[in-house]
Amino acid sequence: MIEFKHVSKKYGNKIAVDDVSFKINEGEFFVLIGPSGCGKTTTLKMINRLIPLTEGYIYFKDSPISDYPVYEMRWDIGYVLQQIALFPHMSVKENIAQVPQMKGWDKDRIDQRVDELLKMVNLDPDTYRDRKPDELSGGQRQRVGVVRALAADPPVILMDEPFSALDPISRTKLQDDLIELQKQIKKTIVFVTHDIDEAMKLGDRICLLNEGHVEQIDTPEYFINHPKNDFIKQFISQYDRNVQQQLKLDDVLENTELKSLQSTQDLPVVQHDTPLKKVYEDLARYNAVAVERDGKTHMLTREDVFNFLADSERGDAS
Ligand code: ADP
Ligand code: MG
Repeated sequence: MIEFKHVSKKYGNKIAVDDVSFKINEGEFFVLIGPSGCGKTTTLKMINRLIPLTEGYIYFKDSPISDYPVYEMRWDIGYVLQQIALFPHMSVKENIAQVPQMKGWDKDRIDQRVDELLKMVNLDPDTYRDRKPDELSGGQRQRVGVVRALAADPPVILMDEPFSALDPISRTKLQDDLIELQKQIKKTIVFVTHDIDEAMKLGDRICLLNEGHVEQIDTPEYFINHPKNDFIKQFISQYDRNVQQQLKLDDVLENTELKSLQSTQDLPVVQHDTPLKKVYEDLARYNAVAVERDGKTHMLTREDVFNFLADSERGDAS
């Protein structure tokens, strides 16, 4: 679907991308990862010709990208950024409808498509289609940005750190949504992140970049079990650490004053040793969870968890 052959990019004398070659298959979720400044964004933007390459070739559907008119590339390749730039004066629907309108779709087809897309990311069309971007939460705006990139059904979607500005609960929720969405739509997705956990969770294959060159391209499992060199081991050790040190609910409970509950009511029930990641998933859907500990039931709210996280960021919690 997309192939890089010995691609380099120089900004003046600075080599940002250095002799990169890889092939992305149709329907693949391909993650570009690496430290800040390693050339991820440059690599991504060369695909849809937002940045011209200096040397080498990029093929899109078996033809060099220089064979395609630039506007056609933009229509055939959806693009999602870290800070989604929705047009503030336009409604959600108008934002999503942009590319279909440019492509000349008729009104009924557009209306239908907008509602279908909103449902795909769990936004009720009747509630959200006429809202303005400033009437949405950060996570909802990001969701609209994701489906806007899908609107005209492009075969390829480029995503540049789309969830990195979100709080951990929204980020987990959107990652899960994207996994579900990809099962339905089976697009070719090129996803940039610097977060190894996110890469491991989402990627079919991961391409690790370092100072503009490719260190290794492999599946998540292979990366963990067969890192090719010390740089990769070092980079991946962060993942091991995150997994080992995964915060447990206990850590939160010890630093939070809990309210007692007579019953679990209709809340999701979690245990004291449940990984926090799982709790985030429940809290993405409910305002609170029921915690069973020492034979008693307590209520833990979303706000409690946010407060704990804020404290641990500041280093208050032990
Ligand atoms: P990443 O997305 O991995 O953080 P980028 O692709 O944005 O990395 O940048 C790769 C390198 O190229 C960095 O050293 C960056 O400073 C440099 N760079 C990026 N854009 C420009 C530009 N427009 N002009 C000059 N240097 C740039
Ligand atoms: Mg970048």
